[in-house]
Amino acid sequence: MRIRYLLNAGLLLLMAGLFGTAVVLNRNHFTSANANVEIAFERELRLQVRHLRKELEQQEDELFARAEQPLILDEASSVADFPEHFLILPNGVVPACTAGLAETVSDKEAKEAFRSGLAALPDKAALPHFKTAAQLKVKTADDLYRKIGAWFNVLEFERDVRSVCCLLTLIHQSSPALTESQRLFFNDMLGAQVPNLEQIAAWLKQQEATAERIDQYLTRQKGAYRTTINERTLSVREDGRAVLYPPRLETAPPVELIRSADETAGMEIAPGLYATIPKATVAEAQRNIRRQYRTGNTIMALMALLGAGLLAGMAASAQRRQKLNALRTQFIATVSHELRTPLSLIRLHAETLHHGRIPPEKVAEYHQTILTESERLSGIVNNVLDFSRMERGKLTIHLETVNLSDCTGQIIESFASRFETEGFKVEQRIKPDIISRTDPLAFSQILFNLLDNAIKYSDGTKIIEIGLDVSKGWNILTVADQGIGIPDKLKKPIFDEFTRSDDSKVTARRGSGIGLNVAQRLAEKMGGTIEVADNRPKGTVFTVRLKERNETTGG
Ligand code: ADP
Repeated sequence: MRIRYLLNAGLLLLMAGLFGTAVVLNRNHFTSANANVEIAFERELRLQVRHLRKELEQQEDELFARAEQPLILDEASSVADFPEHFLILPNGVVPACTAGLAETVSDKEAKEAFRSGLAALPDKAALPHFKTAAQLKVKTADDLYRKIGAWFNVLEFERDVRSVCCLLTLIHQSSPALTESQRLFFNDMLGAQVPNLEQIAAWLKQQEATAERIDQYLTRQKGAYRTTINERTLSVREDGRAVLYPPRLETAPPVELIRSADETAGMEIAPGLYATIPKATVAEAQRNIRRQYRTGNTIMALMALLGAGLLAGMAASAQRRQKLNALRTQFIATVSHELRTPLSLIRLHAETLHHGRIPPEKVAEYHQTILTESERLSGIVNNVLDFSRMERGKLTIHLETVNLSDCTGQIIESFASRFETEGFKVEQRIKPDIISRTDPLAFSQILFNLLDNAIKYSDGTKIIEIGLDVSKGWNILTVADQGIGIPDKLKKPIFDEFTRSDDSKVTARRGSGIGLNVAQRLAEKMGGTIEVADNRPKGTVFTVRLKERNETTGG
């Protein structure tokens, strides 16, 4: 027993230890997960920022490269597709499409080139000559005509939108050398060569306006840099070229791109453009971790409860087993003792009769004692046999049509000499000729046990009332005594096997604690009940109810 207690205590300690360790581990996991969530987000942000910056550089490189290509406008393309390309010059910002107007060639060289160009026509070899001639510095009206002529020739060979833009600028800039009608003439001429002239003219105007705006906002820095103009990024290269574009960048959750003037808004991709992880996302992740932590704790608490319950159950069942074992041992001892007393009496009386050593008037009394004790003996033996059959599930009930009133009378009759010797007054209220389908042996055993108890547990007033009646379809048998009574808390348990009151008045009497259990089980087998109540002024009343028309067959 001690070993089992020690084992249970050890198991309990082990469980408590495991539970404690699990709680600490869960707590540690929570703390580190909580700290790690920020680190993980930070790492993710850095990773994506590195990628975004590279992506932005690539987009810029592509834009600059496309700006270098000829800008040919055909049916499939639109000027809106051309990169917005500018030059940042010391005297201001200009659209790169008019860069060809730079006057970098001496008058002499330009004029010679113009002549060589004309001479080479219509061969393509004329193109470089006209390109040089197009750089002519305009001092006189003639210079201007020649320059415009050179550009028209360039356009002849190269349908680059840039040539158109240069011509538009030359024709429309407010040069006093051109009259209004000359302007219209050149414009018409250009229109005849370039079908989408209006579109290009509008685009050029927009580029010039943008160049002016860039000029206003430009940070006069040297070298390459970026700045933001109206939510678009202006990227300036070392050589003074610049592209203005809306960055096309994509982020994956939890990272988001935001435009902000606040320099702590996140990690900068370009001026005013930041990659960030929203605070709400971090808070949500931390909430999730907290939720997991709480769920973990709840599960562990439930498991601990379950474990404790299991242990308690195991301990309780072990205790019950132990109690039953003790009761069984005691039962065997008591039954053996109970059997010995009537046996000795029978033997003593039989021997005395056998030797003829008693006066003739006592012979009947001796016979009666032998008979009474035999009946007591068979009552005890029947109890033990019924109990053992019930335990093995082997007890069967055999219903017969019997006269219950007669049956009751016979049992009472068999107790007559015991009643008399022990000084009992018996009052009978037995309704005659109650016919019922009952197992007569089971019924007799029930009544035997109740009467035996009534005798055993009476002291002082020795009155026993026995009743048999029929009411509402039930046969009702009552046995009432004026004995020691049964305390309320024992009124239910006394029907359990081996249960006896520990009152000294009970323990002083012989008994094995199975009589009422057998009576109850037999009554129930016959579809009936047995219960106990207090008698007045003292003692107990046992009431057995059996169905009047009993169809129960035992099994
Ligand atoms: P036993 O009489 O052999 O102890 P029973 O099963 O017949 O076993 O009775 C169980 C217990 O119920 C008794 O030990 C006693 O405490 C109580 N008991 C039974 N009948 C009476 C009674 N008529 N008056 C008082 N107590 C009783």
